[in-house]
Amino acid sequence: MKFVDFVRIKAIAGDGGDGCVSFLREKFLPKGPPNGGNGGPGGNVVIRATRDETSLKHVGHVCKAKKGQNGAGGGRNGNVGDHLVLNVPIGTVVREIEVEEEPRKMITKEEIQAEKEARWVLYPRAEDIQVPEGKPNFFKQAQRMMDEEDRYYRWRQRTKKGEPIHIDLTEENQQVVLCRGGVGGHGNPYFLTSDNRSPKWATRGRAGEIREFELEVKTIADIGLVGLPNAGKSTLLGAISNAHPKQADYSFTTLHPYVGTVDYADQYQLTVADIPGLISGAHRNIGLGHSFLRHVERAKILVYVIDISRSSPIDDLKTLQYELNAYKSGLTDRQSLIVANKADKVGTAKNNLEQLQAHVKGSIPIVPVSARYEKNVLKLTSVLRKEVERIRAIEIEEARKLEEAKEDDELV
Ligand code: GDP
Ligand code: MG
Repeated sequence: MKFVDFVRIKAIAGDGGDGCVSFLREKFLPKGPPNGGNGGPGGNVVIRATRDETSLKHVGHVCKAKKGQNGAGGGRNGNVGDHLVLNVPIGTVVREIEVEEEPRKMITKEEIQAEKEARWVLYPRAEDIQVPEGKPNFFKQAQRMMDEEDRYYRWRQRTKKGEPIHIDLTEENQQVVLCRGGVGGHGNPYFLTSDNRSPKWATRGRAGEIREFELEVKTIADIGLVGLPNAGKSTLLGAISNAHPKQADYSFTTLHPYVGTVDYADQYQLTVADIPGLISGAHRNIGLGHSFLRHVERAKILVYVIDISRSSPIDDLKTLQYELNAYKSGLTDRQSLIVANKADKVGTAKNNLEQLQAHVKGSIPIVPVSARYEKNVLKLTSVLRKEVERIRAIEIEEARKLEEAKEDDELV
């Protein structure tokens, strides 16, 4: 199974439905009034964050919403085309890619004519457009109306567009419209004037918006586990949380990030992300590389999982710190904790632990555990909780201050 946490997409909103040309026909009313319905608007492309998704593998490269329904006789307007809703994991970052607009090249008279014709849904008897004696050319009038509307439409699109979309979907059900469907065409009653009582034309719907985006999942968890392959990250996640990641004795058993929830007796919860093991050179995208580091980027606490039974845990710690900083400088300044795992292994473990303690000199707390035999994990979960609570409180306070500052700005 492939884990996809980065895709580029082209979002295409639905075109508007076409207007309809139709007239009321009743037995003793041979020339009834026009009653063609308007076309329905095209569907939007919408992106929405949900807990139910964990990857982007189901998201296609072209995401297209449905066309609006065409209008029908009897004044029936077309329905809105179905919106396309892209469900993505919480923590997806959406970035619009600005596509260079092609410079408008010289267009021929024929092309302009073709463009104008494409706008119309004509009544089958087009020869009816012939100008009646002593009257203005109704079709020309209608064309002028539409030229005016086109200009307005283009102006509105230019002014409405604004900044390119760049958002972070961090909450359940948070959603954003990526591009909007085109407006439906006018039914023939739209062209009714005091002179022309039977307009025999309607217009086609307008094209839906087309925009391009990059989607990137950056898992949001309170705690990010980092460690070399086989350090016991997955075993640890299984021991402290409700997640059941695969554990095995070879590198890269974890091929995608797992997020587990640690449940406390009083309903308190925190989330832990296990990402594939880092190896030396990961920041240069060696092995599974940095594509996975983005999943720890947003963790409140970094937990280094170190196999304390290995020959040199200090070097292992240095490798991890080096890789994290090479990926994003300053990442290791984040609140951290060391889990000295496999403490059950007799032999070098005890000596190694002492060396590691001497190396960090209290700058990072160290908790020895045995993930496999679930020794000392309660101590670990309570330390983690205390830290997460402290950081959450700071975050809430900061958000409150920001909110206050905003209000002050508004008062000024
Ligand atoms: P990961 O690559 O960091 O996710 O490592 P895993 O959780 O898959 O574990 C790798 C191997 O180490 C597995 O065979 C585990 O059973 C073993 N292991 C994990 N934790 C401990 C532990 O505390 N003690 C011992 N003795 N073995 C462990
Ligand atoms: Mg693993």
